[in-house]
Amino acid sequence: MSLIVQKFGGTSVADCEKIVAAARKAIRAQREGHQVVMVVSAMGKNTDVLVDLAQQVSDNPPAREMDMLLSTGEQVSVALMAMAIDALGSKAVSLTGAQIGIRTDSTHTKARIRSIETSRVKQLLDDGNIVIAAGFQGIDENLNITTLGRGGSDTTAVALAAVLDADTCEIYTDVDGVYTTDPRVLPDARRVPQIAYDEMLELASLGAGVMHSRSIEFAKKFGVPIHVRSSFTDVPGTLIVHDPESRKRPVSGAAITKKEARITLEGIPDEPGVSLELFRRIASKAISVDMIVQNISKDGKANISFTVPQDELKVTLDAVKQASELLQPENVTYDDHVSKVSVVGLGMASLPGVANKMFRVLSEEGINIQAISTSEIKISVLVSQADAQRALQAVHNGFELDITPEDSPTEVSSVRVRDVTDPAVVVQRLREMEDLAIDNIELDRSQSLLLVRRVPDRPGIAAQVFDAVAAKGINIDVIIQNVGRDDSANVSFTCPVADYEKALAALEEVVKEMGEEGEVLGNREAAKLTVSGIGLRSHTGVGVRMFKALSSAGINVDLISTSEVRVNVIVDEHEGEPGLKALQAAFKDVLLDT
Ligand code: ADP
Ligand code: ASP
Ligand code: MG
Repeated sequence: MSLIVQKFGGTSVADCEKIVAAARKAIRAQREGHQVVMVVSAMGKNTDVLVDLAQQVSDNPPAREMDMLLSTGEQVSVALMAMAIDALGSKAVSLTGAQIGIRTDSTHTKARIRSIETSRVKQLLDDGNIVIAAGFQGIDENLNITTLGRGGSDTTAVALAAVLDADTCEIYTDVDGVYTTDPRVLPDARRVPQIAYDEMLELASLGAGVMHSRSIEFAKKFGVPIHVRSSFTDVPGTLIVHDPESRKRPVSGAAITKKEARITLEGIPDEPGVSLELFRRIASKAISVDMIVQNISKDGKANISFTVPQDELKVTLDAVKQASELLQPENVTYDDHVSKVSVVGLGMASLPGVANKMFRVLSEEGINIQAISTSEIKISVLVSQADAQRALQAVHNGFELDITPEDSPTEVSSVRVRDVTDPAVVVQRLREMEDLAIDNIELDRSQSLLLVRRVPDRPGIAAQVFDAVAAKGINIDVIIQNVGRDDSANVSFTCPVADYEKALAALEEVVKEMGEEGEVLGNREAAKLTVSGIGLRSHTGVGVRMFKALSSAGINVDLISTSEVRVNVIVDEHEGEPGLKALQAAFKDVLLDT
């Protein structure tokens, strides 16, 4: 008999009528011959109401008590759901996270799942019940209630689908699928019939709130197909699977994080171990850092900038302060009115010209780019909050995301068979649940590093630089841009060593055209070290492990770029081999043998 997991988000159970409608959906699936596990969120905005209550009694509520409070929202809705199903004449049992046996670590309000018991749920299903699981919650080893982070019911659903070996996991929500960008932000966003795990993972972690990013980590790791669809209409929705919608398009979606904060440490020592000192302290607070940009410098000093969610700025600044005692920065600045706009696409890795196109469309809108960070399948730019909406619109139009690609699948079939079927692989992965999983550690010695220093920080500069490089047919890889000291910008990127001289010449020319005091530097012999896997950013310790391994080996990092599925660091070529060895040793315990 096939098993379906159906998850209903807050708006889908916002009132009793909607609860009954959801109950009918589950009963219908059961009558069609499936075993059904429902995962239910708190009703409507109930979690927000609870957060607000906590804030009324305390500025700084203890995280353990926060979880005690927040978990009650889901307890209400699962009980009502079970009553509704019972009233409609079917059998149902509601269970909290603890009753199911969802074990987590003890990181209150952001806990990670360690293991899930399946015996009770399976028994209840075999007895003909619809099992209704409270989303978003678990229990730690001391029986404390934990929650998985806002939006975490998606993760409960996909995790249950994985351990129960479900045939499909349906996510019922208030939109009828995944769109090229948030349709509430851009009305001309287009619903896509299909999107790849890696793309959804990046989009979710870059602001596409339709799915909790950690749920996609699970889905990818266990090969669970996810079907996102509307609670209120019968539109076919979107499948999240291994393959993208189109093989011909470089970009498949765009995302925005409106409320970000940028922090810059200026004039810190450019030596091994510096990034470690900083990010170790931030990671210990479970804050995920993004857009880490480090400049290589001439005078032996470096600048590091990075972004964090705006509401984590305060805690981050505390961590920065601690690190500053050691690093003695000349200056620490921050800006809490910035937004991150990103484009994502698997096709980007093989279809060139995406970066300069993105910079060009932003420049045509007169939007200044404050920082850039790219990895193989995403480009993020930091802009002022005031420009964010226009920036998103511009890139959405620029990459024609509103137009259906010609090779887009015409049909969305609702049930697909899981594709990780090797029992040994499944068992190994289940043992690790939400642990860090690294697929690959690689060294690419064929890279060169180029840097343009002190170019004016104004709209169009990135476009000018990368148009010039693209015009010479040079394939650029990782790009980093940072605001330098005295309001000028620095742009660094890597390219194949064979293109180094050409790239250098192109840059000299652009800098001359700009007619200012810009300067071009390069390192012909650079190497790229890449760690790839799942959930690299949400596991806040990954960067720390990397920096620790490299700094213990005495290796200096010139450039860092991060994404959910990859962290790249650029080092000197002769440090490539020792760097690779150091990283392999550092991640030995979590390297998957695939
Ligand atoms: P639920 O309560 O069902 O979990 P959420 O509010 O968490 O629902 O997620 C659905 C919302 O996600 C939509 O209402 C939409 O505004 C937002 N969203 C953000 N990005 C996207 C996207 N790319 N596609 C669809 N919806 C998106
Ligand atoms: N109720 C929780 C929240 O609002 C979890 C969820 O809905 O996914 O964040
Ligand atoms: Mg949600």
